[in-house]
Amino acid sequence: MVTPDRIETILVQFDDADSSNPGSCMLCGGVNDPVELPYKFTDEYDNLVVRSTQPVPGSRCRDCDAEWLDGKVSLVLDKATLPLLNPKSPLREALSCSIARLEIGLKQAG
Ligand SMILES: [Zn+2]
Repeated sequence: MVTPDRIETILVQFDDADSSNPGSCMLCGGVNDPVELPYKFTDEYDNLVVRSTQPVPGSRCRDCDAEWLDGKVSLVLDKATLPLLNPKSPLREALSCSIARLEIGLKQAG
């Protein structure tokens, strides 16, 4: 059993436009409906490290119940989460890579 880092909270505001087009489910191709989701950032042992005090805009598949955050929302949340991680945490590198990937992906998407 690993003791989790102290749980930090973030509060991020999003424009309604951020969740305007949830697209289709990447797992089953079903229809995604816009929903508000809790944001939880967990470590490799599934220990909660950072959570959002407010739900964030996301989507949920009607068919398989998979939940999604779009790239823009994920990027904002990742950037808010990174500075809260313990400087020695191995999660920092993974999160930094995720941010870099999202920035490249969003740039390519226009
Ligand atoms: Zn689905």
